[in-house]
Amino acid sequence: MGEIEDKKIIRDHTFKTWSKQKGWDPIIVSSAKGVYFYDVEGKKYLDFSSQFVNVNLGYGNERVINSIKEQLDRLQYINPSFGADIRVKATKALLKVMPRNISKFFYSTSGTEANEAAIKISRFYKKPRYKILARYRSYHGSTEGSISLTGDYRRWFVEPNTMNGVVRIPEPYCFRCPLKLKYPDCGIACATYVDYVIRQEKNVAAMIIEPITGTNGVIVPPKEYMPLIRKIAKENDVLFIADEVMTGWGRVGEWFAVNLWDIHPDILTTAKGASASYVPIGITGVSKEIGEFFEDEVFAHGHTFEAHPVSLSAIPAVIEEYERLNILSHVKVMGDYLGKRLQELKERHRSIGDVRGVGLFWAIELVKDKNNTPFGGYDDKYEGYTTFVDVLARRLLIEKNTYVYNGPSWFIISPPLIINKEEIDEGVDAIDDILKEAD
Ligand code: PLP
Repeated sequence: MGEIEDKKIIRDHTFKTWSKQKGWDPIIVSSAKGVYFYDVEGKKYLDFSSQFVNVNLGYGNERVINSIKEQLDRLQYINPSFGADIRVKATKALLKVMPRNISKFFYSTSGTEANEAAIKISRFYKKPRYKILARYRSYHGSTEGSISLTGDYRRWFVEPNTMNGVVRIPEPYCFRCPLKLKYPDCGIACATYVDYVIRQEKNVAAMIIEPITGTNGVIVPPKEYMPLIRKIAKENDVLFIADEVMTGWGRVGEWFAVNLWDIHPDILTTAKGASASYVPIGITGVSKEIGEFFEDEVFAHGHTFEAHPVSLSAIPAVIEEYERLNILSHVKVMGDYLGKRLQELKERHRSIGDVRGVGLFWAIELVKDKNNTPFGGYDDKYEGYTTFVDVLARRLLIEKNTYVYNGPSWFIISPPLIINKEEIDEGVDAIDDILKEAD
């Protein structure tokens, strides 16, 4: 009875986002530890996606919790025109792990805000240029600027109320190449075409790229793509913004995904793993040149909760934990194991069209038939948010006690970075079971 009433409060008095409200049946969660969370009835669930790819250190890490508590006891807030001592500590810790040219930070409380700041910074810095290139299969946030950068179906809901000056470029999605070409004969046309776009558009200030596309199905680019597109940005004097909200913080076995190709972005945005989700955080990091530009230029931006001491206190604490737990090498080892197990699933299940990933960041893309017909989300009229893959993910949760974050046609498998082999087996076996019914 109590649980039903609680569900009713949540359903009737709080918003479900990215969805109609009707039919929402939320599981009420009350505690969590390690890679598991528990509902109010005590039922245990494996978190096989780190929620929205953000609970990087799992649940209940006492070292991180104690650092945050210590900050709360000492200084819970001071406005951002002051220089809190924790801001010094967090910034020093960040400078050690960020790509070496990124040297000045704006602190906010989400990935969305990190990208909003990146839009403004680029447009100030490249004034009067204002256009920003962004890819179709991308997600950059939900507020007006960041949803306008977002290229996927989520943008369709808000059109025509989007920001001006966004120009679309294609993504390196070899499984469903937007240019209908085949790698490697394609000559990485999805990148070379961008050079043409920049010249035709003029006025391009920046391009924003998820180094490995996240919510749109963990699209790992072919090895040539990132160095090439970085070079094209540089040659055309266009800022390169790496959106590492999802890919940062050990997820791909490096501090940041750009390290996989030794790429140096002009701006790097991140959130999620920066606090491992113990508190909300967003970070917009910029190069020295961009930072210096604002010596004599008003950075017309800011929030009351900008550089919040409690948010900042998580940064050095999680960096210490990532280091103490040797997370980068752990992710490489566990990632190889997870990848191998997922590839085995592909051999067994007709419904899996593609398996791709790096580190502990994987997707299995489900298909309707042997022509690889997708379940939805693209190229068709998008009327609702419930595809067969949504239904399967829900059944995985309810019947197999395993949570995966899914898109219209794919599961994202991105467990907390502390996961071990037995826990990986548990999650893969649950998916194996549920897919038997999808084949
Ligand atoms: N950018 C990317 C690549 C993301 O994956 C997300 C969220 O999933 C965002 C931006 C937005 O971050 P937030 O949900 O913290 O606002």
